[in-house]
Amino acid sequence: MYGGTFNPPHCGHVHAAEAAAKELRPDRLIIMPAGIPPHKQLSPGAPAPEDRLRMAEIAFGHIPGAVISASEVKKTGKCYTVDTVEELRRREPECSITLLTGTDMFLTLQEWYRAERLLSLCSVAVVSRGSEDDPKILSGQQQRLKKTFGTDVIILKTPPLPASSSEIRAADPGKDPSVPAAVRAYILERKLYENAIPDDVIRRLKCAAEETLSPDRFAHTLRCRDEAIRLSAGRDADRSVLEAAALLHDITKECSAADHLKLCEKWNIIIPQDAWRTPAVLHQYTGAAVAEHVYGMPESVCRAIRSHTTGSPDMNETDRILFLADLTEPGRAIANDPHVRLVREIAEKDTVEACVEQLAYEIRRLTENGKEVFSVTLQACESLKERILSKNLEEKQ
Ligand code: ATP
Ligand code: MG
Repeated sequence: MYGGTFNPPHCGHVHAAEAAAKELRPDRLIIMPAGIPPHKQLSPGAPAPEDRLRMAEIAFGHIPGAVISASEVKKTGKCYTVDTVEELRRREPECSITLLTGTDMFLTLQEWYRAERLLSLCSVAVVSRGSEDDPKILSGQQQRLKKTFGTDVIILKTPPLPASSSEIRAADPGKDPSVPAAVRAYILERKLYENAIPDDVIRRLKCAAEETLSPDRFAHTLRCRDEAIRLSAGRDADRSVLEAAALLHDITKECSAADHLKLCEKWNIIIPQDAWRTPAVLHQYTGAAVAEHVYGMPESVCRAIRSHTTGSPDMNETDRILFLADLTEPGRAIANDPHVRLVREIAEKDTVEACVEQLAYEIRRLTENGKEVFSVTLQACESLKERILSKNLEEKQ
């Protein structure tokens, strides 16, 4: 039995299942997409259980003996592997069950719910997930499970095929080559992973911003959100992603330099050297990390936060809208400044041009005042200018 969230299933999963089919030759290879997994929350905007089931059918269906089971997916509420295994046993008392896992799950088996019972009911087969897996650690765990629970463990010989669903989700599941082509086609057809963030998550982010920020900053956050939503209409940007990004964009703005440093150490955040010299921009990096690690936001949200103050060379429509809304929301002290009015006006028509206007202005202002301009801001301005040039060229041709 091979359980997992399969959110989405990837080539590493398929490779592990094929290896088990070949090396263990089971009568049946039960693929068991999890309902709500006990050890984690599903990512925001995750596909419905039926879609994960269908993706598993597409990914594993070709393997000899594979049976894709809907029993966990159909259950409401949390469900544990031990319950599923007990149920299988009740139905077929004579069967012997082997749990198939990757290294990460294998090393935590003793912590699973009712581990003793679970590990007395089945044996375990493990597939390495990456070349960094130490064979000594695997065999140590093998011996420990045997000694503690009497469980037989087989370490499959197949070489690892590294892949991870969370990394795939952070990129683009519909295009990632680690996802089998037929699964990718299904993802695109059903528009899965389009990063829509559910309303209850948005509500939670709003409460978090209100609790964390001073009343003035929270008021700015809400105005920035409204402006971002307004600008997103009719554009290639997901409204809920922008809403989430706007609600969290200043979440670490009121942190001290020491707090930023602590966050950087905690999550290994890489901040460009020149940004350290200007504390006012640190919050875009630490804010993005808080969005990811504390609030589980997808990369589409985090990247917008990560560039909202300095800009970045690869800004997409969502990133540009947040960058602009932060400046043009109507409640700012500078709201009537002629430059801000100009940016607002251009933004109605074209976010690329509005960003160039703002970035170029910022670069001029800093240079005139003898201040340092961040390299990322310079690069952002150049790359957006190039985009305008090539668009103009295309239109001419
Ligand atoms: P996520 O990043 O969302 O946790 P995942 O890639 O770890 O996703 P899961 O659905 O959590 O995938 O994993 C289901 C099972 O597949 C687990 O036992 C896991 O260890 C195993 N597994 C995942 N990726 C691989 C891989 N590349 N090779 C072998 N086993 C894997
Ligand atoms: Mg996992």
